[in-house]
Amino acid sequence: MSDIVLKEVSKSFGVVSVLDKVSMQIKSGEFIVFLGPSGCGKSTLLRMIAGLEEVTDGEIYLGGERVDQLPPNERGVAMVFQNYALYPHMTVRDNMSFGLQNIGTPKDEIVRRVEDAARMLEITQLLDRRPAQLSGGQRQRVAIGRAIVRDPKAFLLDEPLSNLDAGLRVRTRLELAQLHNRIRATMIFVTHDQTEAMTLATRIVVMNNRRIEQIGTPMEVYSRPATRFVASFVGSPA
Ligand code: ADP
Ligand code: MG
Repeated sequence: MSDIVLKEVSKSFGVVSVLDKVSMQIKSGEFIVFLGPSGCGKSTLLRMIAGLEEVTDGEIYLGGERVDQLPPNERGVAMVFQNYALYPHMTVRDNMSFGLQNIGTPKDEIVRRVEDAARMLEITQLLDRRPAQLSGGQRQRVAIGRAIVRDPKAFLLDEPLSNLDAGLRVRTRLELAQLHNRIRATMIFVTHDQTEAMTLATRIVVMNNRRIEQIGTPMEVYSRPATRFVASFVGSPA
């Protein structure tokens, strides 16, 4: 069974159409990358899956359940934001615990999940710090940790590396790949960076001008681009 299904999902802001009948299926455990130029609708599509933006038309299914009318916290997905969106007045531990407290998870269970996630992300020594005392890369890990503790059906990441400097970006990218290998969770990762897409994705969704241009493995979109746009954007050797 496909974990995430989009059926002819469209989005307009007022009279302006930004996505037009987008359909696709994502299998559980895939690392999907939405790749395309700025303004092509990547973030909007991700936000509709997360429930942060309403669909104008179409249907979204998660694990067989139709979710497009459900509020974000009932969809079982976790969004990791570009700007981390950590609470500045809370410690790392409290930032990671907060979402679980809100849904009434027992305290000992929260402690266990936060410590497991912290170990996995190697941030155990940071648990009592506040966001201002962390580097950009460390904040990014905390943001991912906050998602992991909720054991989501999918992780939704919107340009999570774009605020990092070049060296850290590469390192964090490799860590993200390792994390995916370890936990095998479904990930949807938005970027306009071809290198990130080529190195992280099990499949790339190339988007442009309100539509999906091609869906395929990095090798497929690189060596057999379906459209002229894909060839130029992904950089075919042909
Ligand atoms: P991307 O993430 O690919 O850069 P976005 O999904 O952010 O693109 O935006 C797609 C289009 O929708 C852009 O033209 C953008 O200006 C427009 N848009 C996004 N959010 C809103 C909004 N809240 N109101 C009006 N237009 C929006
Ligand atoms: Mg965006």
